[in-house]
Amino acid sequence: MNLKELIYFLTKNQAILHYNISTLEQIKAGILAVKETKIPLIFGVSEGERNYLDPALVKDIIDFYKKELPIFLNADHSKSLETAKQAIDLNYDAVLFDGSELDLTENIKMTKELINYRGDRNILIEGEVGKIEGKSEIQKEVEIKKENLTKVEEAVKFVEETKVDLLAVSIGNIHGITEQEPELDFERGREIARAVKIPLVLHGASGLSLEKIKKCVEIGFKIIHFNTEFRKIWKEKLTEELKKETVTPYKILEPVVEEIKKKIVYYQFQFFEK
Ligand SMILES: [Zn+2]
Repeated sequence: MNLKELIYFLTKNQAILHYNISTLEQIKAGILAVKETKIPLIFGVSEGERNYLDPALVKDIIDFYKKELPIFLNADHSKSLETAKQAIDLNYDAVLFDGSELDLTENIKMTKELINYRGDRNILIEGEVGKIEGKSEIQKEVEIKKENLTKVEEAVKFVEETKVDLLAVSIGNIHGITEQEPELDFERGREIARAVKIPLVLHGASGLSLEKIKKCVEIGFKIIHFNTEFRKIWKEKLTEELKKETVTPYKILEPVVEEIKKKIVYYQFQFFEK
């Protein structure tokens, strides 16, 4: 089953976990989780993450396991057409063109160009309207400006004109984890979902309560992005393991993989229950 079919087969309470990676042990944790759960997982690589790994190498690694597992690869937050087109040429399963910092007209124009470039290839294109604040780090606080949240009419115009497959929006969700849990504008989310009629993508689920995320799933967010929470587990567990006597990398890294895997399994079951 390809990613598009999978998304359209999801029930009202189901969504797919999107998990960002930039190291081999993060990839391994995701692979082991899916081997255990048999639940689909999307691996995400932002421009920084995929440049670190090499955009072609990470595709080959995911393809290696894809023969037997329901896993997918997304070129997350591609800020330029060049990197987005590169991911299309490498046949990633999905590409997010993030034109959220451009004005709407320019965002539409560039996203459309990418849709044309994709042509009839079986690759999902995600667009982004509205500004998702923050970065995938632990931050004290992030200011959320109401005027930067996605406007329903802008989302509709964007989807109608670009014909994107998926839409990332801002309803108060932020990248990263802050001391206070962000408040989400569910009503706006509901209105957007109803109006655009395509699956929405929830960015910045790290630091959000399960209750809030599940409400988003019900509204129509079908892909749930987690990054910072897993980065935090990676660093904390690694720091702990590095204090041990051994100098053998796999002995140090194995418990890190296990710790991340447990959390992936946990979220996969949370969002994929029937
Ligand atoms: Zn994101």
